[in-house]
Amino acid sequence: EAITVANLAKQMGQKAGEVIKKLLLLGLPASINQALDFDTAALVASEFDFEVEKVGFEEEEVLQTQQDREEDLVPRPPVITVMGHVDHGKTSLLDAIRKTNVISGEAGGITQHIGAYDVKLENGHVVFLDTPGHEAFTAMRARGAKVTDIVILLVAADDGVMQQTIEAINHAKAAEVPIIVAINKIDKPNANVEKTKRQLAEQGLIPSEWGGDTTMVEISAKKQIGIDELLEMVLLQAELLELKANPNKPARGRVIESKLDKGRGPVATILIQEGTLKAGDIYVCGVNSGRVRNMFNDRGKRLMSAGPSMPVEVLGFSGVPNAGDQFIVLTDEKQAKLVAEHRSLKLREKELTRTSKVTLESLFDQIREGEIKELNVILKTDVHGSQEAISDSLLKLSTPEVKVNIIHNATGAITETDIMLAAASNAIVIGFNVRGDSKVLELAEQENVDVRYYDIIYQLLSDIRDAMVGMLEPVF
Ligand code: GDP
Repeated sequence: EAITVANLAKQMGQKAGEVIKKLLLLGLPASINQALDFDTAALVASEFDFEVEKVGFEEEEVLQTQQDREEDLVPRPPVITVMGHVDHGKTSLLDAIRKTNVISGEAGGITQHIGAYDVKLENGHVVFLDTPGHEAFTAMRARGAKVTDIVILLVAADDGVMQQTIEAINHAKAAEVPIIVAINKIDKPNANVEKTKRQLAEQGLIPSEWGGDTTMVEISAKKQIGIDELLEMVLLQAELLELKANPNKPARGRVIESKLDKGRGPVATILIQEGTLKAGDIYVCGVNSGRVRNMFNDRGKRLMSAGPSMPVEVLGFSGVPNAGDQFIVLTDEKQAKLVAEHRSLKLREKELTRTSKVTLESLFDQIREGEIKELNVILKTDVHGSQEAISDSLLKLSTPEVKVNIIHNATGAITETDIMLAAASNAIVIGFNVRGDSKVLELAEQENVDVRYYDIIYQLLSDIRDAMVGMLEPVF
């Protein structure tokens, strides 16, 4: 359990400077916002005739759950994100799927946009996240939230594989999420399915009818062609993944969307990942805690309980949580509050100290300490020619200790999406003859992502090589 110097000083009614001085005399130089461990805090406090009491608790202990037994696990619906190049039909596909989602006889209700929706099919459910695109997908991942089981990659058959198609493929691959391809707009006269498949094969997605392992379905989102087949393929893929969860325990999930509603207060959509959420449950969610005052499904229907993979809108938060926050049901209200408080303290500390992501400077230490076995690289270059030359040479730098992995390789300026992919995948970003604008650099700073610019290939390669063996000259 840690306490900052500033906080300790305040609690003892001392000036922080005095505490820092004492620490220095003890041979423990510290800054005002530095967190002290229990022993150090106790030592310096005793110098002021104070005793430090251990009141902390291990969050992990409180949040610990038992391993599920195999017999408790039951199949759960897959959660899908739709990705693809702009205008290739993501929104149209989500709409088309919503329209097929009319089960006769069920008290319908009007579709509510809560961030995700559940499609009931004859032989199962499929849950779709409402915010399509690899940007949203990777932003969630950068916050530690893995909610997507399968990616549907949309490629318009008239346009073929485009820049954002390739980005989407690389983002899904970096997350190790399987891809099902939907070749869209086959109703268009200039649709060229064969050519689209060839381009996809060039990106490593080989259609199963060519002996590869990527399922490709031809559809028209606009004319509602092939939608049922696509959903069938999703269910089939889900079966292969053996997606299972234990519904018979307190719920855990992730925040998909959140807002402050004028009339209802903080509202968040939770995607339940395991267990069953019940009305009245007590929970902690990020730095917030609360009790499920009310919950609704994607048709605005009030629910008493909801199981794995279900998206539910929950009311009863102490504040608005962040998308990606983990949601955990606890049995004890005091405990929930304690965890939330503890977390906001830790969050403040984390903002001050910053988490250690991979940088070229720290790379060697991280390799030596066994923290890193792969150096993930995002490479952006000005022209295609240098792109291939550099990536080939980079891959050859791999050693038995550390493998160089190029998770995204494209021409063009460094974008915010590149930074988020780097943050989610613990990668460094290299710009060769290209840069990122000030907004991009700000984000990189915030996400603690190492961005390097080069205009000489030799320099680039020698820096990476030096970094891998701990010989990189520091830059001041
Ligand atoms: P998004 O940017 O990926 O969300 O793409 P949209 O869903 O907004 O679609 C872009 C445009 O393509 C719209 O004008 C759609 O009507 C059109 N579109 C989408 N799917 C199809 C399709 O299957 N056939 C045809 N002909 N047009 C489509």
